[in-house]
Amino acid sequence: MLLLNPPGKQNYLRDYYCTSISKSDYYYHPIDLLYLSGTLSLEHDVFFLEALRRGLSKEETIQEIRRINPQALICLVAAPSFEEDSSFLRDLHNQLPQVHIVGTGDIFREYREKMFDVMPFLTATLVDFSTDDILRYLQGPQGNTINNVIYRHNSHVIVGPEKHGHGQFSIPTPCIDLFEKRYYTFPFVRHEPFMSVLSDFGCPYGCTFCPISTLGFKMRPIEEVIAELKRIWETGYREVHFRDQTFAVNKERSLKLCEAIKNALPDLTWSCFSRVDVLDEDRVQAMAQSGCHTVIVGIEFDNDQMQKLLKKNINRHQMINAIKICHKHKLNVAGTFILGLPDDDEEAILRTSALSQLLDLDFASFNLATPRLGSTWRRQLLDDDRINEKDFKMDTVKGTESFKRAKLNQQQLRQLRLKIEHDFYLRPEYILNRVRKLRSLAEFKTLLRNGFSILHGG
Ligand code: SF4
Repeated sequence: MLLLNPPGKQNYLRDYYCTSISKSDYYYHPIDLLYLSGTLSLEHDVFFLEALRRGLSKEETIQEIRRINPQALICLVAAPSFEEDSSFLRDLHNQLPQVHIVGTGDIFREYREKMFDVMPFLTATLVDFSTDDILRYLQGPQGNTINNVIYRHNSHVIVGPEKHGHGQFSIPTPCIDLFEKRYYTFPFVRHEPFMSVLSDFGCPYGCTFCPISTLGFKMRPIEEVIAELKRIWETGYREVHFRDQTFAVNKERSLKLCEAIKNALPDLTWSCFSRVDVLDEDRVQAMAQSGCHTVIVGIEFDNDQMQKLLKKNINRHQMINAIKICHKHKLNVAGTFILGLPDDDEEAILRTSALSQLLDLDFASFNLATPRLGSTWRRQLLDDDRINEKDFKMDTVKGTESFKRAKLNQQQLRQLRLKIEHDFYLRPEYILNRVRKLRSLAEFKTLLRNGFSILHGG
């Protein structure tokens, strides 16, 4: 079995059904393929080809696949890279028709069996990487339905229901050695190299703009997570990034998990995503004591009405409070923002910019609103005829051309995004503060890399 991150002209982040293009040079492990490597290794020999980060051309990638000679490959395919991915897979199929092509990614969750007409070379698609449904498909299902798998059988397409599960789940430790350290970078790491880890899957919140809100929510047993972290440590990593979408969402479990990390790996350092209304004193203290140094939170926008309407439901008091607690325990806080909601005007966007500077954040990431595949918001915009079903290009930096706003066009939005990014990062007091807080060479390199990227149009 071959797991493939296909070639691409840009740094496409194609994983976890929530895709984008990396703004600077950062690139985390393709989490779907990372965890599928462990599951597949239970029954198969597994290879991984990182064609995108290696900078392989289409032809070089096909040559490598010819050399590996897999029976089947599982390939990430995503909305932002769809044309490139589709053209690559067509060429691959023409040259190596014996290889079964299984696609995984946001586009298959959204369009399901319709994708078999668009991509006639597909043999199957997978819409949940956290289960072992792929093993059942590879065993030869002979026309039976399999959860989370859609596949060709004779002249039919057999459609399995999308079922992500809830409560607890187990997943084998990935084949970490297949993922070369040098290809993955992350702006917030304190030590390089770093490894990505999941202690849960999905998210219990219902933010309508976020596809993760439609994936359910389930957690791994703490002992399993600790065993995986130990394996990561033994492989030479000293830093991990938890790809949990809201770390510490379950208070009791997160306190136990942090305690277990502190006891098992007292020198591990890590970062994670969370929410401002989750980060209370107890949790932040436990996170800091177990090696967490940076937490990324979605602030989104300065608009209470939209916070409610899009079901993020956080307020300014919670934002200020969480950041204060994190700073008290010496955690850096990165905030992510969404600019350009359907009825935003310049004033609304500048209000969000002012909020980003008021909040005492250590980092900020400004993204253009995009009706992401798999999100409830996209469904609503489709119903209101504000987007077209066939348009799925996702770009949170350049914007999505087909998504018409009432008061601002794409060009104005792009310029505003750049201005806001400059206004945030080029404040003299901000730069001084960052230099004062530097803790490691990796952080210094990241600061330089980010500064370079902002000055060159980020
Ligand atoms: S809390 Fe974050 S990950 Fe969860 S649904 Fe909302 S935006 Fe998505």
